[in-house]
Order: sequence, then C-alpha cells, then structure tokens
Amino acid sequence: MKITRFNDNRIAVVVDDEHLVDITELLGVDTAEWPPVAPTRLVADFDAWRPRIEAALPGLPRIPVRDVTLRTPIPWPNKVIAYPVNYHDHGREMQAGYRADHQGFFLKPNSSLSGAGEPVVLPNVPQREVHHEAELGIVIGKGGRGIRREDWREHVFGYACLMDMVVRGREERVFRKAYDTFCPVGPWIVTADEVADPTQLEMKLWVNGELRQHANTRDLVLDIPGMVEMASAVMTLYPGDIIATGTPAGVGQIRAGDQVRITIDGLGEMNVKVVQGTEGATPVFDKPYTPDIIKQK
Ligand code: MN
Repeated sequence: MKITRFNDNRIAVVVDDEHLVDITELLGVDTAEWPPVAPTRLVADFDAWRPRIEAALPGLPRIPVRDVTLRTPIPWPNKVIAYPVNYHDHGREMQAGYRADHQGFFLKPNSSLSGAGEPVVLPNVPQREVHHEAELGIVIGKGGRGIRREDWREHVFGYACLMDMVVRGREERVFRKAYDTFCPVGPWIVTADEVADPTQLEMKLWVNGELRQHANTRDLVLDIPGMVEMASAVMTLYPGDIIATGTPAGVGQIRAGDQVRITIDGLGEMNVKVVQGTEGATPVFDKPYTPDIIKQK
C-alpha cells in the first residue's frame, strides 16, 4: 500500500501513481490537530487499520494526484535518523576518512521534513553552497530497542524517496542540515510488503534534467539490517521513525529555480522546486566555504 499526506493534513492511499483516495474521515482524523501525529499513529496501528482501509477503498472517490499538494507522509515522527558517508564513492569524493559503520549517525529535526509538492527553500547564506543528497528513506513500523540485525524486517514499515539537504561547511553537521525543508520525503511511503528487495534498489537524482547521482542500495557500506541494529542499540525506535540511509557520489549545489528530481525503483519520484528564502542568515555561515569535492567517474 502507498500512503501519503496532502493539502491540509489529509491522509491518503495512493491507488495508482496518478490517483489517491482520501481516508482522513475513515481514520477519524482531526485535520486541525496539533501536533499532527495521526500518520504516526496510523503506522503504529496499521495492522488493525489495513483491512478496514482495503474494504473502504473501492467505495471512496479517486482524486487525481496532480490536483493536490503532496505533503510529507509523516510530519511528526519521534525522530529522523541519518547515516553519514554510507557509500564508498561519496566518502571518496568528500575525502572522508570514515564511514557510517564506525561513525554512527546524526539526527535531523522533524521541522526539516517537507513533501513532494513543496519547494526546498534556500536559506539566506550567500557565502555557502547548499547541496542535494539522494537517499533511500526507511520508515520504522514496530519499534524496539536492541533489535538484532537478523530481525530487521519485522521492524520496517516501508520506504520512500528522501533528500538530505545540507549547507556545506565544517560546522556542526546537524546545524548545517536542520533548515526547514531540508528533508523532503515522498511522494508517499510504500509499505514493505510491496518492496521485494530493498537491498537492490536503483536510485537516481537529477538537477534540471542532468543526472547527478546514480547508485544501487546494494552498495551501502552499513546495510539496512545494520542501520536498524545500530540505531536501536542506542535508542528505542518508535513507529514512524525515519532513517535517512546515506547518499552516493555526485552531490552538488542547488540554486534557486532548480528542479531536483529523485527516483527509486518502485517508490515513485519526487520533483521538487528550489526557491530562495529570506530567512536563515546566521554568523555561523559568514565565512565562505567551498567544498573540495573530487569528482568520481
Ligand atoms: Mn545524507
């Protein structure tokens, strides 16, 4: 099943890549609720909801996806976990002397999440480059602590395309990756039962039609079972938690007016516009910095 969010806090099932069905009323969701935790609850209670949703779908109207604004599917997870330098070719282009398997992870704030129908807003940091990072996003279903790698499948709810946007520099990684709209996720979550082999997914990212990143999840340094194990060794994973699994080589600058498109096998595509914002200036980014990236073939 493909699950997403649209317009003002409405929840939908995507029935083909061009139509969705609004299940907000079926779920009894108050669209004005704050914090917006209904999608997080749906993930937690999905096994109970699924038969009711499937039974209701044929009787509900289909809405063209093009007529709605897609939002991020889970706006209020407990956390967004992100693994740095998790493809060797990206490690080489950044000249990083470490990899995620011995470095651990960082966190991105929920407030950085945005959806497929929303722009990425560049902060007002003219001395710096903002870069795209194409990543597979994993959504946790059943939570837990100390999950063993062989049990990873029991804990994964689904998958989505994810972009980890970043201001390049040497300051705190979390600070550089925390701006609003720096974590587009979407266009929907595909539940794990519909993804035959998440360890063999082709992923591509284009900027204005130019292919910038192309990789396969088989090349992850710390694999998906390992990421679930490592994260849950440190902290309890909760339903709806999102894991950004790391980016391959080909990262580069995005500028106002750009269109950034990501596709992952079976997960659909997001094509987000980049706009210049007026907020975000900070003395932290006063000093110019140009990343020294060694282009990988
Ligand atoms: Mn990343």
